[in-house]
Parts: sequence; C-alpha cells; structure tokens
Amino acid sequence: MLLRFIIYLVFILFIGTALYYWLNENKPTNNATEIDSCLIDCVNEWRSTLLSEGFDSKPVFTSLRSIKIKKLSEEMVGITHYYKKTIEIDPAILTQGTFALRATIYHELGHYAFGLNHESCKIMSTTILSEKEYKEHWDDMKNEYIELIRKQDFETHLP
Ligand SMILES: [Zn+2]
Repeated sequence: MLLRFIIYLVFILFIGTALYYWLNENKPTNNATEIDSCLIDCVNEWRSTLLSEGFDSKPVFTSLRSIKIKKLSEEMVGITHYYKKTIEIDPAILTQGTFALRATIYHELGHYAFGLNHESCKIMSTTILSEKEYKEHWDDMKNEYIELIRKQDFETHLP
C-alpha cells in the first residue's frame, strides 16, 4: 500500500516537473521585456523574421526593459534609450499604417540589437516615408536590412 503510494507520488512529481519545463520552454517571446499590447504582433514579426534568417533574438529581450507607446516630439516616430534600455514609439505611427509601424519597430530594434546607424539602409533612414512607399518597397527594404545585420555580431552591441 505504502509502496504504491510512493510510486504514485514519484510519478506525479515526474509529470509535474516535465510539464513545468515543457511549458517554460514553449513560452512565447518577452522574457523580461514589457511590450505594449498594440506593438506585440509587430515585435513578434521582427523576432520570427530574424529567427528565419538564423538569428535568435532571445538575448535582446532579456536585455531590453520595455517597448512602449509614448507621445514624442513633433518630428520623431520612435526613440531608443540605450541607458534606460527602453524603446518608445509615438502613437501617431499607429494611425499611419501597419507598414510604417513595422518600419519603425525594425528601425528602433536595429539600433538596440545591432547598433545600426542612421542611413546605413532604408529602414535605418531618418526620413519617414508614406505607408504606400513602405508597403511597395517592404520586401526590398527588409532584405537590405537583413543583409546589413548579417555583417554584425548583435550580442556585442547589446547595452
Ligand atoms: Zn533612429
């Protein structure tokens, strides 16, 4: 009777532990990064784009504290604070369209994760394009961006 009880107990503990590790292993994104809900899809898209190109961006989201919506000054759509380890996105970009938002997220994460400089590619340009222009040229712009980050070693750029 006691032996059976012990066997059950060990079995339950084993299943519990296995389940715990399995759930943690499969946890989606944002390990430590607080991301505003309206930005999550876009950030996840960046992550899966990078992953499909062979970059696991996990260290980025362990380092980065937050990606949040915040009203910025007139000519700004996004800003990366290296010291505070935060990214802020102006709410105006949400109304401009999904491609403009995508470009802004790629731009700011380009700064944070890879230390990319302005004008190193179209996505890293300080010139803000229209939703139509981003949409029309998105594939080319994304490829150019990927090519650029292939030349970087992103973990060394993380603050
Ligand atoms: Zn910038």
